[in-house]
This record gives sequence, C-alpha cells and structure tokens, in this order.
Amino acid sequence: MAGLRKAQKRVARLLAIVAHHDDEALYFGGLLSIASRLGARLHIVVVTAPAPGRKDSATRQESFRQVCERLGAEHTELSQPDDPRRFMMEAVRQGLLRIAEDFRPDIVLTHNADGEPGDVYRKSFQRPAGGHPVHELVHRSATCLIQSGIVKHLWTSGIGMDDADVLVEYDQREKQALLDCYAPRWRPHDYPFAYDPEPYVRISR
Ligand SMILES: [Zn+2]
Repeated sequence: MAGLRKAQKRVARLLAIVAHHDDEALYFGGLLSIASRLGARLHIVVVTAPAPGRKDSATRQESFRQVCERLGAEHTELSQPDDPRRFMMEAVRQGLLRIAEDFRPDIVLTHNADGEPGDVYRKSFQRPAGGHPVHELVHRSATCLIQSGIVKHLWTSGIGMDDADVLVEYDQREKQALLDCYAPRWRPHDYPFAYDPEPYVRISR
C-alpha cells in the first residue's frame, strides 16, 4: 500500500562450531532443530577430520551431511587432526574468523571451557576432572570470535558444568532423527544425557 513500508524482517543466524562429526547432533541437536523449524539460517562447522580406525570413520562425514540436509544448514569441515598434540589453533581461529565474517552469526554455539566433562571422557582420556581435550581446544579457538568483536553472543554447552543459563526443551523425535543419521554404528546410549533438555552457558562480549 502506498505510504506503508514493509518491515524488514531479519532472519536469525546461528553458527555451531563443533569438534567432531556427531557433536552437532549430540550436544546441540535440540536447539538446532528448533531454530531450523523457526526458519533461522544455520551454519555448522566441524573442526576435525574423522579419526582413522574407528568403526564409523568412513561413514561419519556422510552422516554429518545428512544431518545438515535435514536441518537445512550450510556446513564447513576444517579437517584438522583429531589429536590435541597436533591441533593447530591459529589455523582454526583464522578459519572460524573467515566463516564468521562472511556468515555474520547472531549467536555462536560451541563446546564449553572444560570440554564437556563426564564419565564417557573420563574413561577415554583418564582425566579425572576433565572432558574431551579437543572439545576444550575448539572452545578456546571459538572464543576469538568474541574477542575480535565479530560475535556478541557465544553459547556453550552446559553438559558437565555446574550451572546453566538456559535449558532448552525440544521435541525428542526431532533430535532422534538427527542422531539416527549416525546409526547404527554410533550409539547415543553411550551418552546418558543425549535426550535430556539441553543446558547452555552464555558468554557475551
Ligand atoms: Zn566430540
């Protein structure tokens, strides 16, 4: 109508940065499903390449791409070695900065500062209090987005943390559909929190 201007609706943009193919579904799948359903633009970055010699090494990338297709998410794989001794943080930071400058996310989701401590990683890495060392490194890499000022809102997974700022309730069938992309070689039952409401800790500039 003459004289009326259409309100500009900006679509929310979420950037999820995860260490491994499967972390996006396991830690963030509930929130990503909701965001997808609401029409948000999604971009998922996986930092490492699948470690060789696992029973699902050959199928993980394909499973991840199925997850992204389901969510309508763009994706980038940085293909760093899944080994804390060979992790190249500066290269990861540069890659994340480039993606964020281009995508301009409103919120970034990533691992927490302790690498999601819990029984499963305590046993695997024999670290009494720690989580997954590569999750920790991805967290430290992603904090450069806040420090650089490109990103205002960073939400980290609250798994293994004492307190959460946000608890996201989601439709379990939607998260299940994402986890199913990795089945049958990968079992969410190894992770007792897989179907709980997702806790998040907010870190803002
Ligand atoms: Zn992981």
